[in-house]
Amino acid sequence: MARAYRSFRALLREVMDADGILEGDAAGRYTVDFWGQHRGRAALVVRPRSTAEVAHIVKAANRLRIPLVPQGGNTGLVAGGIPDPSGEMVVLSLERMNRIREVDPAGDFLVCEAGCVLSDVQRRAEAIGRLFPLHLGAEGSCRIGGNLATNAGGIHVLRYGMMRELVLGLEVVLADGRIWDGLRALRKDNTGYDLKQLFIGSEGTLGVITAAVLRLWPRLHERVTAWLGVRDLTRAVEIVQRLREACDALLIAVEFMSGAGVELALRHLPGAAAPLARPVPWHLLVELAWPFAEGLRPKFEALLEELWSRELILDGTLADSEAARARLWRLREDHSDAARREGVIARFDVSVPPGRVPELVARVSRGIADWEPRPLPIPFGHLGDGNVHYNFVLPEGFPDQLRHALAQLVFDRVAACGGSFAAEHGIGRIKVEELARRRSSVELELFRRIKRALDPQGILNPGVILPAPRDP
Ligand SMILES: Cc1cc2nc3c(=O)[nH]c(=O)nc-3n(C[C@H](O)[C@H](O)[C@H](O)COP(=O)(O)OP(=O)(O)OC[C@H]3O[C@@H](n4cnc5c(N)ncnc54)[C@H](O)[C@@H]3O)c2cc1C
Repeated sequence: MARAYRSFRALLREVMDADGILEGDAAGRYTVDFWGQHRGRAALVVRPRSTAEVAHIVKAANRLRIPLVPQGGNTGLVAGGIPDPSGEMVVLSLERMNRIREVDPAGDFLVCEAGCVLSDVQRRAEAIGRLFPLHLGAEGSCRIGGNLATNAGGIHVLRYGMMRELVLGLEVVLADGRIWDGLRALRKDNTGYDLKQLFIGSEGTLGVITAAVLRLWPRLHERVTAWLGVRDLTRAVEIVQRLREACDALLIAVEFMSGAGVELALRHLPGAAAPLARPVPWHLLVELAWPFAEGLRPKFEALLEELWSRELILDGTLADSEAARARLWRLREDHSDAARREGVIARFDVSVPPGRVPELVARVSRGIADWEPRPLPIPFGHLGDGNVHYNFVLPEGFPDQLRHALAQLVFDRVAACGGSFAAEHGIGRIKVEELARRRSSVELELFRRIKRALDPQGILNPGVILPAPRDP
């Protein structure tokens, strides 16, 4: 094996500069996940600058059977972008491939490399009066290749869809080192199988994404942001329905938070102020936007009056400046971080049909009602698309076997509500067993066939989505 790595290094040095290959301490930060919860070890880290270099690396790895872990911004939450602890894996970081190759306002697209940071892409779109609508808490660090490989969601899915709906074409290095140039900027292209969709959401297990054609939308000029207090989640769902009916595509985000979660955020986030005059059981953060400069706010205010008169909301406030809007969003986006400061957190990223979120929350609460010690549920997330980030603050000394029981309880309740145990963060290395348990043998067999067809040697991210071949 050592000889294979020596040959691999020698092959890399033929094409890469000294900064392109990192070992020892320099490789450390690529092996730990965002929250520092998962740690692996890497044989080395390689940082190509071009698609040709990626192709050279993958070809060499395939020849020598060296496992590769593609990595973008390393903000993934399921340990899919870091190596396992074996020390045998090579991290393939795309961070130096960060050029925007082309911007086309007439065609409403831009072509960028996989290592572009999401917020840089958003800014570039804004500079030409367009919008790239993917928005998530990690947007200052996560990279387009990672967003594609995880099929990222975020706060605007309700209006624009997930990452797979924001893409027109891809460039991918295949497991044998060949380059598939699918960088087509077409809205209509029914030429056989839609290969790009196979790579999107494949978490680095089928190919290395090196570039993408991303769709752009008109820029939104007026935004109206409201924070609403609600008595229960059934009313919250009714509010979403009414807003969708009345506003259709103008409704771009609906987030929900529990009263307990907002209390924690107010306690732990420096400078945070309560958005409402008194505590309420549930909170909604609602945002509407359109491309005109003004006129939306009075329409929205009229709708809020209606919701108020129907006793759907208990209280509410509208952001009257960009700073006020940012303060409201911070309470939501730093929600998870605030809870973390309270104690140890168990996190589950699940989804159900939006109308069944109240049922899910009620079922989970009933399920843990007589637990001792009892975890504190802090469910929050994207109510508009049914994605619940089910966090729990665990009491001190919470036993490990109960953590497992908690996961099974949540996933069972999610299944009973027709939902998914992996909504937007993916499977990674940490939900592999769950996938094997909860998907049918037909589905798993299809997964294995696709994997074998595209990566017959199993060098791309082994152990992610499917168990690594050597695992029992
Ligand atoms: C504070 C915070 C908030 C978040 N909010 C959201 C949210 O609202 N919605 C959401 O969906 N996610 C969210 N995430 C999760 C994460 O940001 C996303 O999954 C993001 O898309 C990952 O991008 P990345 O560049 O960091 O990928 P990485 O973490 O580097 O990698 C993720 C996966 O993609 C693979 N991969 C990376 N680059 C490539 C490539 N070029 N080719 C092939 N495979 C590749 C990796 O192997 C790995 O399996 C959040 C994370 C944090 C820390």
